[in-house]
Amino acid sequence: MSERNFIGGEWRAPSSGAYDGIVNPATGAVYADAPASNAADVDVAVAAAKGAFGGWSSMTPRARSEVLHKVADAVEANIDELSKIECENVGKPVSIIEFEMDLTLDNWRFFASAGRFLEGKAAGEYLDGYTSFTRRDPIGVIGSIAPWNYPLNMATWKLGPALAAGNTVVIKPSELTPMSLLKFAEIVADVLPSGVLNVICGDGPGAGIPLVTHPDVAMVSLTGSVGAGISVAKNASDSLKRVHLELGGKAPVVVFDDADVEALTACLGEGSFYNSGQDCTAPCRVIAGPGIHDDVVAALTEAASGLSVGDPMDESVEMGPVISERQLDRVSGFVERAAADGATVTTGGRRLDSDGSFYSPSIVVGAEQGSEIIQSEVFGPVVTIQKASENELVAWENDVEYALAASVWTSDVGRAMRAAAALEFGTVWVNDHIPIVSEMPHGGFKKSGYGKDMSMYSVEHYTEVKHVMVKH
Ligand code: NAD
Repeated sequence: MSERNFIGGEWRAPSSGAYDGIVNPATGAVYADAPASNAADVDVAVAAAKGAFGGWSSMTPRARSEVLHKVADAVEANIDELSKIECENVGKPVSIIEFEMDLTLDNWRFFASAGRFLEGKAAGEYLDGYTSFTRRDPIGVIGSIAPWNYPLNMATWKLGPALAAGNTVVIKPSELTPMSLLKFAEIVADVLPSGVLNVICGDGPGAGIPLVTHPDVAMVSLTGSVGAGISVAKNASDSLKRVHLELGGKAPVVVFDDADVEALTACLGEGSFYNSGQDCTAPCRVIAGPGIHDDVVAALTEAASGLSVGDPMDESVEMGPVISERQLDRVSGFVERAAADGATVTTGGRRLDSDGSFYSPSIVVGAEQGSEIIQSEVFGPVVTIQKASENELVAWENDVEYALAASVWTSDVGRAMRAAAALEFGTVWVNDHIPIVSEMPHGGFKKSGYGKDMSMYSVEHYTEVKHVMVKH
């Protein structure tokens, strides 16, 4: 059966009648069809969102919060089905999905309440005879564009703050993974007023660009690759729309000689290969001091080679496929070129014999700092390890264009504090890597984009600050 877009509270077929096949990456089989929407579909969706804006934005924060808590209730009531959909569409192992879905639910609960805490920061008589105050107003229709690695979770990071602040949304999932967001729209169809949430499926050129350039879209929020982010920023510039960009990462793991290798291995052995390494904050770029490097290589090689890879529906499996054959080619190309340039692949480095797009967990040692596997986002189950002197550690950690997340590993508190200050990344963990919470911001510097997800910062980002000045 073919899926449809969710627009103005109704399910609508794409105006062109064209569909994209949706593939299960664990089997390579097409198991659903989703609309390949175009500019005409975007027009209808934006009109629906525009029509709903007045009613939604004028509700009290409490009333909106009550609706959004019902959204969270609906997610909770359907969490098993949503989890199953995510596993099938992305190839996520059933053994790891609980963490992601629990975060998604907690994000909804957080955002449902967060809209009640928006505030203007000043009120007073700053000029004789006048009282000034500031207020935060919603922006209007938000065009949101989500990636494929955590389809519903990333959509939640966009929808939650935008809706909590009183905006209405047209959201486009990745053309590869629309299934969980379509299910989400179904389960909240009777909860959210019509037109507040609109879901249109399709790819970047067909549906994404028309959404970004639409004159009635006031702000665009994208989570995706740097290339897509640059395109969105350029296309939004003609109308000077506000842009919120959560882009790629290349997280360094800075390991000083006094680090706890056991703790590091426990964290990276799981975290680097979580979601097949398709995580923008994945600890994928280890830079280790000369005294600890060999121990780190041995421990991570053993951990990676011991991971069980295979059918995501098997409870004992720890890592599933990458998202597509195209991604598999991309990942294996990076490793092959690194090996050809002199790096050592201590484990992995091969495709698995399967109809699905499986790649073995891989450790690549000794790549040059300037090489592409160090400088570019691989977005797969591949970890590089470099040996560095203390000076090189500091020089290399920031020496990439990405700046989303990093970790520093040491038993010296002062060294950890100095490194945390020196690391130019949106999140820095000390002696850990990956944990995230709804209350704290997530977002990058440099080519990892701008604007924050989660936390009150994200809710504020979906508002305009207005100064009201009263003469008396
Ligand atoms: P992608 O850039 O290929 O696609 C992301 C979304 O943008 C998709 O919905 C796609 O259809 C759309 N799109 C692509 N080109 C577009 C354009 N020119 N205009 C408008 N829309 C366009 O990314 P992906 O492969 O789906 O996701 C992986 C990327 O996302 C990685 O780079 C990863 O690091 C990044 N990511 C970042 C974060 C973060 O929080 N910073 C989180 C998850 C993923």
